[in-house]
Amino acid sequence: APGRETARARHLSTVYSQHRCCAEMSTNTRLRVLVDMDGVIADFEEGFLRKYRERYPNEPYITLEDRRGFWVSTQYGELRSDLCEKAISIWESNNFFLELKPVPGALEAVKEMSKMENTDVFICTSPIKHYKYCPYEKYAWVEKHLGPDFLEQIILTRDKTVVTGDILIDDKPDILGVEPTPSWEHVLFTACHNKHLTTIPTQRRLLSWADDWRATLESKRQ
Ligand SMILES: [Mg+2]
Repeated sequence: APGRETARARHLSTVYSQHRCCAEMSTNTRLRVLVDMDGVIADFEEGFLRKYRERYPNEPYITLEDRRGFWVSTQYGELRSDLCEKAISIWESNNFFLELKPVPGALEAVKEMSKMENTDVFICTSPIKHYKYCPYEKYAWVEKHLGPDFLEQIILTRDKTVVTGDILIDDKPDILGVEPTPSWEHVLFTACHNKHLTTIPTQRRLLSWADDWRATLESKRQ
């Protein structure tokens, strides 16, 4: 009967609009922050230089002041071709990632933002392809410095463009992958290797964890 059809249509329309409402709430009211690990919360460059000089005390090295370009091994290879492999040997070693020091202010900032209302924080990090130690040590580092509950917040991926979020705080100037239009805004975290780069005017930076990261997060809330 036409009357029953109309009632059913009205009922379904109500159900759908309720669900749509729920979906909008979950996507719109919570802010999802993706925080990179190396160079943002774990001090890769300091750890690299310290262990490289320990292991190769008679080889030339590049001070953090003179670092240019994202890839340490590329710049060492330009200094002398055999130094590229020597550099790689450092981060492929046991305990390299585990023993990285926290970036100043990073642990306090990440803990604070994870306690903020309507905020989900994930550590979004790309392990090196030599997987013997790195993935394990990244988990162990997070547990050691941020606590076991934070293990729920780790995303290991070689392609960050397929991860959805509102903001990605990362020191790598170009973050590319299979998704041409990632959902997040990349905020460039300043590091020794990228501080001289002139970024495109639309790209925002966080100069350090002493910079106003709270304002950056607030600007992404709707
Ligand atoms: Mg990084």
